[in-house]
Amino acid sequence: MPEGHSVHRIARQFARNFVGEIVHVSSPQGRFADGAAILEGRTMTDARAVGKQMFLEFDGGLWLRVHLGIYGAWDFAGEITTDATIRSAAGRMGQTNQRGTDLPVPDDGTLDDAAGEDSVRSIGAPRKARLHMAESERENDDADFVFPPDPVGAERVRLLTDAAVADLRGPTACEVLDEAGVRKVLDRLGPDPQNDAGPDAAERFVSAVRAKRTAIGLLLMDQSVVSGIGNVYRAELLFRARLEPHIPGNRLESSVVRALWEDWSRLLDIGVRTGQMMTMDGLSGDAYRRAMADRSERHWVYKREGLPCRVCGTNIVMEMMASRKLYWCPVCQA
Ligand SMILES: [Zn+2]
Repeated sequence: MPEGHSVHRIARQFARNFVGEIVHVSSPQGRFADGAAILEGRTMTDARAVGKQMFLEFDGGLWLRVHLGIYGAWDFAGEITTDATIRSAAGRMGQTNQRGTDLPVPDDGTLDDAAGEDSVRSIGAPRKARLHMAESERENDDADFVFPPDPVGAERVRLLTDAAVADLRGPTACEVLDEAGVRKVLDRLGPDPQNDAGPDAAERFVSAVRAKRTAIGLLLMDQSVVSGIGNVYRAELLFRARLEPHIPGNRLESSVVRALWEDWSRLLDIGVRTGQMMTMDGLSGDAYRRAMADRSERHWVYKREGLPCRVCGTNIVMEMMASRKLYWCPVCQA
């Protein structure tokens, strides 16, 4: 399932190529025909992500809310702006596709502007491209396709401008909301550090965690406590904090919970900028590039059950916690 960084990246793609444009909205599959009719011909005015949910605003105060769930994906085609992290990945990157970016990266793990116009922050001009964005990202090099491409498969929504198209398949949620409807959804969501880096958001997280007797390993995945964390970031955040995953939230010191929030803010920011769930610190040069290219080099504990802990050598264990796989080191996180 896409974690928060992927959804923020998809919202950014919409901001680059759709916001400000008149959008023709259809539902080739038919299941969203009523919603499509409401949005047809409106101008997209905003694109944002909150945790794992994305909200596209259209004129008239209407929003399209999308949650990709496990199987959902967006496919973009046309005059698309791809950033350097996508281009440098030779067409494949993300959690399950392991090629990764090979951009020059300084020791603090941030991509910089050294690559000039190919860098992340100075996005190039739109060019004809096809781009798949879900749990992983993939650019298709075939630039000979006809625009717009024919709808393929169970396409819930097609958003079409003069220059670009975005096709949505397999979402868990896809609905039109007004401002009040959006507010209702947002009220149920915990804070997202990409949207609110201030102390209030941190304190909301701290008090939500410390009010509950639930295990911290479950609270981190509870989207009403904090937005955007999935299975990979959960395991890695707990290891980085050396926290035993079963400790109840109400037994944790405020300072410990606040540090979890700060670490999540940092990891999410790296994820949004690079497209990779890079959760190890202190890598540089070749080690960093290897880790960006290969998930087995990128994480402390995730999917490393039976392998020696990178810190203490004890075998990493995997257990089921509320029917999701949890990976942790029984010695470092005792
Ligand atoms: Zn260990």
